[in-house]
Amino acid sequence: MEKMIETEILVVGGGPAGASAARYLAKGGKDTILIQRHLAFKKPCGGGLRMDAFETFELDHDLIQKRVNTITLVYKDKRVLVDISHAPLAIVDRVAFDTALREKAVQAGAQLYEARWIDCEIFDTHIVSKIKQADRYVFVRSRYLIAADGVNSKIRQRINKDHVPSLLTCYADIHSQSYDTCAFHFGSKVAGQYYAWAFPHAQGANIGTVVGCETTLTQLKAQLHIDTPTKNRGYAIPEFENNLFYKNRVFFVGDSASQVLPFTFEGIYYAMASAKILADVVSEDQAPKEYEKRWNEHYAKVFMTLRRLQKIFLYNDFMIAIMMRLFKHRYIQKQMVELWRGKRDVTLDFGFFIRVLKRLLLRD
Ligand SMILES: Cc1cc2nc3c(=O)[nH]c(=O)nc-3n(C[C@H](O)[C@H](O)[C@H](O)COP(=O)(O)OP(=O)(O)OC[C@H]3O[C@@H](n4cnc5c(N)ncnc54)[C@H](O)[C@@H]3O)c2cc1C
Repeated sequence: MEKMIETEILVVGGGPAGASAARYLAKGGKDTILIQRHLAFKKPCGGGLRMDAFETFELDHDLIQKRVNTITLVYKDKRVLVDISHAPLAIVDRVAFDTALREKAVQAGAQLYEARWIDCEIFDTHIVSKIKQADRYVFVRSRYLIAADGVNSKIRQRINKDHVPSLLTCYADIHSQSYDTCAFHFGSKVAGQYYAWAFPHAQGANIGTVVGCETTLTQLKAQLHIDTPTKNRGYAIPEFENNLFYKNRVFFVGDSASQVLPFTFEGIYYAMASAKILADVVSEDQAPKEYEKRWNEHYAKVFMTLRRLQKIFLYNDFMIAIMMRLFKHRYIQKQMVELWRGKRDVTLDFGFFIRVLKRLLLRD
């Protein structure tokens, strides 16, 4: 006979969202099981994480492989350096980082299994999931299921009958290269209406483009003067659309819920921060809709603003050229860094943007 395990909450996916959800749920006194398909899985990722996350989520600073104090914006032959030394970026290795997050969950009291979620059946008061552990099937009966199974979420496909809206990135690790700035490359040639990147990585450097086609990556390599062959890979990244928070006893968090910041495409921080909000709501036995309400209170404004800015400034090469000129102004740099850090009191002075724009256009 197949085995049945009981728990209050089953969390599927041991990346930043799932590991953090399990950690804070266990801390909040909830009986929690966390399952992760392969414990050695390396999530394709630049590993860039805002430094204040280490304080917010009480993470060990030994996980920081590199520290980045400037970002560089590049469009054709134009370059703008933005000093972020007051709000630096950390570069982490995703295997070590995700492992450490899962260890935190276990220390807090969650049970961790290497297992794969297969399917579920939903009842009025509970949900029964079928998981595969090694070569045997196990059933888990829980009050709630948390889908933290990433951008290719099987749970989302099963429960909501759709896929996470996403873009296909194309990227490559370059072990022989090392950068000390995170460079964002713009323009239709290398990045379409998004950006391409050249970042320091845990081992060497990582380059890629959000419009995931090999031709644009080749153009980026030419722009970066990289003439060695690279092993190019593709992986989806969520777009902030059709957000899904809760349905039929299932909560969605992280990539499965599209909680990736528009424009910058940062997902690690928001996966953890959203997981904390979700765990608080569940631990306090609040109604499920409270999760969406609290998330919106915290992040809707910054997500919507960055999505709007992305649509305006990355619309075409003309607008990118304007953005580059705007970014030369220290005031704009400061405002954008504050906005990026989620300072909720920040109000973008659109009047200032218009005045600078007018001046630029009249001068041309
Ligand atoms: C090329 C690329 C570069 C990126 N660079 C950055 C960056 O520099 N900074 C940043 O902040 N974000 C970056 N991101 C985004 C970031 O990687 C994600 O937003 C973040 O990992 C989301 O965390 P998550 O826990 O929701 O999902 P994931 O990290 O994808 O974790 C999901 C986990 O669920 C597991 N899983 C899946 N299905 C099952 C199943 N059926 N059963 C059990 N387990 C399952 C997976 O193995 C995985 O470990 C990048 C993304 C890409 C594609």
